Amino acid sequence: MDRKTFLKTTLAGAAAAVVAPGALVSCSTSAKKPSVSLRLSFQEGLTPGETLPDKLDFMESLGITGFEPGGGGLAGRVGEIREALRGRNIRVSAICAGFDGFMLAEDPDVKARFDTTMREIVRAAGELESTGVIMVPVFNWQTPALPHTLQTRDYLCAQLHDLGEFALSCGTTVILEPLNRKEAFYLRLVSDAAAICRDAASAGVKCMGDFWHMQEETSDYAAFMSAGPYLQHVHIASRGNRVMPGEDGDVDNYTDGFRALKELGYPNYVSFECGCRSEDRAATLKAAVELLRRQWDEA
Ligand code: MG
Repeated sequence: MDRKTFLKTTLAGAAAAVVAPGALVSCSTSAKKPSVSLRLSFQEGLTPGETLPDKLDFMESLGITGFEPGGGGLAGRVGEIREALRGRNIRVSAICAGFDGFMLAEDPDVKARFDTTMREIVRAAGELESTGVIMVPVFNWQTPALPHTLQTRDYLCAQLHDLGEFALSCGTTVILEPLNRKEAFYLRLVSDAAAICRDAASAGVKCMGDFWHMQEETSDYAAFMSAGPYLQHVHIASRGNRVMPGEDGDVDNYTDGFRALKELGYPNYVSFECGCRSEDRAATLKAAVELLRRQWDEA
């Protein structure tokens, strides 16, 4: 390169360097932060009301837009649930488990029971336009289970790939739920669940975070950010005793996690999965919803 060419090249580079920051500034000032709303969901079992329409009426009175039923017997309830939701601003969020057997069972009969019943629930979830069916690959109490080895992880990813593709063909997904170590040592961290989603290599395999089980995490914010596009569902409870958010006082702080959900533009639901200490469940739910909406605004 002669001196003339060198100068030309260098000046062109310098010009680009001068332009680039300006371009970045104008981009960042003109781009509006997307506003992400908090979409709350209740599990069916914790919602006050004798019948499903009663429960949905109660949810509507609090502006709740997601409904999370259990997966047990779901195939026989598709018509009932569709009918009850007709004309309401409430959709089925995720489906909570409900299958027999488990994916990492050593016993082929137990594994076969999982495959059959899980696919039946996934099919019904698709008909209900649910975001997905929540599953845990193996709880600590489920034995005999495949050993916790590299081969088992490869097997898990391959099995999830097939299940994820099936879920996609039904219009839904399967959602891996990490739990605390006392319940499921195999899968504890949101980031690990997200890495399994990536390695399962199917858009039908997603993961979630449960604020109760996220006592395993060192940071709610980092946990959700690590899941990024794989994050499909969130569970919430109080953080000391797994009762209603707010019933454990100051420890019930979700703003760090909510900040991540906002930054991610998280499009799905934050669903109540918890008990209730108070005898007045309706009033406690109302207070919990107000607390979460306040913390979402602050996040
Ligand atoms: Mg949960």
